[in-house]
Parts: sequence; structure tokens; C-alpha cells
Amino acid sequence: MLTDPPPRKHERTSFSESDRIGTLDLPDDRRFLEAAALVEAAIEGELAADIRKACDQFLTETAAFYQVPGCAVRVLAARPLRIRENWATELFGDYNPETMLIRLWMRTAVRKQMTSFGTFLSTLCHEFCHHLDFQRFGFRNSWHTRGFYERAATLYHCARNTSPKRIFWVPVSPGRWRIDWPRTNRGR
Ligand SMILES: [Zn+2]
Repeated sequence: MLTDPPPRKHERTSFSESDRIGTLDLPDDRRFLEAAALVEAAIEGELAADIRKACDQFLTETAAFYQVPGCAVRVLAARPLRIRENWATELFGDYNPETMLIRLWMRTAVRKQMTSFGTFLSTLCHEFCHHLDFQRFGFRNSWHTRGFYERAATLYHCARNTSPKRIFWVPVSPGRWRIDWPRTNRGR
């Protein structure tokens, strides 16, 4: 995971705030966990309509808790491939701040296999955090900052009832970071 480069000057304040806020408030009950369990069950059934319904319920819970307007969700089949010169990346999900719509893909691009629950939920949390950036934090944009990834991880671990790891970062270029996985996995 690599962070986005810092934006132009007038967006810098939002950017550094996004970078700084490394956690989210969480409910002290099991509501996210229970909503995520419905998503897990729906994924096992492999039906897009059921998965969409479960995601919709999850987003209703999270939006209510964070007191933001709800966002819509669409669940699509095989991930689109973005072809670059000599490599391709798969799109797992996206969020449109204008329409407040999250799109999630349930199958891999080439082999059309079902996405694992962990990957799918992590994408759902990631896209919802983009929604929060605009609707809760009022940022001018939603960048992939260190704080953004940490907020998304906080939500994900709450929804899976797993303990979040402290994330260690290494600089790659001025203002850009990537996760130091060996250190993060070691926990120090
Ligand atoms: Zn993103």
C-alpha cells in the first residue's frame, strides 16, 4: 500500500489532517461485527443481489453510527482490469463522492473466482472511509494518506473482531509512504 502524493497548496491542510487522524470512533457493541457476518454469509451464497443487500445493511449501520448520510452500493461481477504498459491492476471497488455510490466487484478479473470475504470486507471498509472523508471530516478530497489506511484498518478490524496491528511506514519519496510489512507483522 502506497500513499498518494501531497496535493497542491490549497488542499494541503485537509491532506495533513487526513494523514494525522489515524483512528475512528467505534461502537462498544457488536453491531458492525453482526452486519459484517451477514456479508460473509452472503458471499458464501455467491449471489450478487444478496451480497448487495448485506452490504447495504452494513453501510446503514456504519452511516448511522458516524451520523453521515447513507451511501448506495452496487455489487458487480468480474473486476475490470486496468492495463498499463506491461502490467495490469484489478479494481476491487470505488466510490463516487458526487453520487455517494460505492461499487464493489465480487469476482477476480481473469479466473472469475469469488473474492474472499476478508478482501471484500476490507474493500467495503476502504470505500466507506472515502465517504467518511467527505461527509464526516469535510476534507476537500479523499486521499490515500497514512491516516486513511489506518482509519480503514480500524473499521475493518472492528467489523471482523480482530485486533488491529500498529502500522509501520517507510518513506518512498518526499511525502509518500508505504507500509513496512515485516515490521508491521512483527509489531515493532
Ligand atoms: Zn481508495
